[in-house]
Amino acid sequence: MTHEPVVLADAVRRISEDSGGELEIYIIFDADRPQLALQAAEDEDIAVQLHEGIEDVRRSVAAAPRCLPVRCMGCKRLLKKSAYAVVIAAPARPVVANGLILAFCTRCAATQLEVRVHAEIALRKL
Ligand SMILES: [Zn+2]
Repeated sequence: MTHEPVVLADAVRRISEDSGGELEIYIIFDADRPQLALQAAEDEDIAVQLHEGIEDVRRSVAAAPRCLPVRCMGCKRLLKKSAYAVVIAAPARPVVANGLILAFCTRCAATQLEVRVHAEIALRKL
């Protein structure tokens, strides 16, 4: 556990190199999921990948054991008990090959803009 930040920093550097320093930030609220699912069903590449990524995150949050819950990156509230937005920061091209995933509860950030501000602050800290 003590070396986790190093691993994370490596991952961030790799993602950053892959992207030429340019990360695309995708923010998906619960309310956006039906639309994303529709777009994924129409086989829009980016939507398919985002949809899979988001559903993976939501499954992980729901299945996280009590001793290791997934928490909001802003206030540490348990995500399982909150509405939350998922952020995927990934190289802009080709698409979401390897991204970094963050999540914020809607008490910390209720709009796209608020989530983006929180995400950019969190990414700078990594
Ligand atoms: Zn929060």
